[in-house]
Amino acid sequence: MNVVLNEVAPQTEGAQSFLKTPAKNMLINGEWVEAQSGERLDSKDPATGAVNGTIPKGAKADVDAAVKAARDSFESGVWRNMTPDDRGRLLWKVSELVEANIDELAELETLDQGKPLFIGRWAEIPGAAQQFRYFAGMTSKIEGQTITSSINYQPEGKRMHAYTLKEPIGVVGAITPWNSPLVLEAMKIAPCLAAGCSMILKPAEATSLTAIRLGELIMEAGLPPGVFNVITGLGPEAGQALAEHMDVDKIAFTGSTATGKKIIDAAKGNMKKVALELGGKSPSVVMADAEMELAIPGAANAIFFNGGQVCVAGSRLYVEKKAFDNVVAGIADIAKSMQMGHGLDPATQIGPMVSKIQADRVKGFIDGGVSDGAEIVTGGEQLGDNGTFISPTVIANTRQDMAVVQEEIFGPVVVAAPIDSMDDVPAIANGSRYGLAASVWTQDISKATRLAADIKAGTVWINCHLMFDASLPIGGYKESGWSRDSGQQAVENYLETKTVCAVV
Ligand code: NAD
Repeated sequence: MNVVLNEVAPQTEGAQSFLKTPAKNMLINGEWVEAQSGERLDSKDPATGAVNGTIPKGAKADVDAAVKAARDSFESGVWRNMTPDDRGRLLWKVSELVEANIDELAELETLDQGKPLFIGRWAEIPGAAQQFRYFAGMTSKIEGQTITSSINYQPEGKRMHAYTLKEPIGVVGAITPWNSPLVLEAMKIAPCLAAGCSMILKPAEATSLTAIRLGELIMEAGLPPGVFNVITGLGPEAGQALAEHMDVDKIAFTGSTATGKKIIDAAKGNMKKVALELGGKSPSVVMADAEMELAIPGAANAIFFNGGQVCVAGSRLYVEKKAFDNVVAGIADIAKSMQMGHGLDPATQIGPMVSKIQADRVKGFIDGGVSDGAEIVTGGEQLGDNGTFISPTVIANTRQDMAVVQEEIFGPVVVAAPIDSMDDVPAIANGSRYGLAASVWTQDISKATRLAADIKAGTVWINCHLMFDASLPIGGYKESGWSRDSGQQAVENYLETKTVCAVV
């Protein structure tokens, strides 16, 4: 397969002018500032290796300043004591600004992350705007309860009156990954701000441009200074300092399971709360009675969308034996037909991996699978002048214990294995330390609902995969995490429950 790297450039005036000021800064207390060390990191276009700009290499001193700004704004009550209606109006304004700048944000995301433009333009940036709209509406629906207790030792003639208050948790640090930057950030920011918290966002070092642009839009919407801060920099430095900070009340993290475990350790100092959205190795299960016109392209899209750099990617394919050859051949044909190139090229269906390091990692898994005895049906190549492209890959002849089947590869690589019947599914689908998502493809409603119940995963899709909405909770069982983003409950991640119990 070839990578077609045509000459491309961003078309929107917004992206062009954003890139004309290549030295970006961090947002602390409403001001755009450099790192105190003055050090900077390059922000590169993964398709070409060209430098888009530079971002501050924030570290502990910068995190301290951002946490202080967030703490001061929280204690002042400027945000948490604003009426829910006014807070909601400002979050709604953020959603409008994201939508008004949708083309620019999609172009910046492509230049920074590599993804084909249509993904940002039609799925992720609208998804980010929707998060702000959805949680703007939640500000006025944060409610405690009145509780009828059974306490019967109050003084003669008195009564008990008990109720709960929902209060914002305080200062929150949000740490996010590089695969779908803006929408995953919005999934933290929107419910966190809706709850009345103040926060510091630490985006992934490889993809900080849209977080910086979002900071500009949030300030333009009129949020008070210090409520939303952005610190850029390396995970083990700026991220670690945020996770360890004694004046941060909660870390909301999305990223790999390995880093999630480090966050748990770092959070111990002040026992800060931790929400974790982690890795996955999600199965797509295709039964022989599935509608193949849906199932074959659906299972292909489940793994090749965004080059497989999706936490819920359908990276393990299990197909009922009598349909196995047909389904695998169908998915391999789709893989072979996909055009690889720069994400800004409208013909591109699959972009580069986010970095050479990630592409090398993916290639390492593919080669490891072959050494373990697996067979490449199609793909498996590392391509492009700077080695960031991986051709869409289908691997067969695998065993459950192979690394290629068990480890999260986070690239366009699917491993396929046959199953005898639906009775095999629970053991094989659940035979993973992850439990983020799964899809089941069948026309038999009884099979579908039974499998949806038996698969241990935070989301089970039936006859579809990768369906997201601000209203649908997403998160994992087992080592895929501890909580849920999106949906009504997400706002609870950022609330404390206080019980008030009175004798009246
Ligand atoms: P990563 O864990 O390497 O990095 C995520 C974030 O953590 C980055 O901002 C990084 O700078 C920071 N970080 C790294 N080391 C740190 C440390 N010691 N202390 C504090 N912060 C640190 O993940 P990634 O490679 O950027 O993203 C890919 C991973 O994210 C995959 O495992 C994917 O499954 C997962 N992910 C999960 C979800 C979900 O909702 N469950 C969504 C998207 C991605």
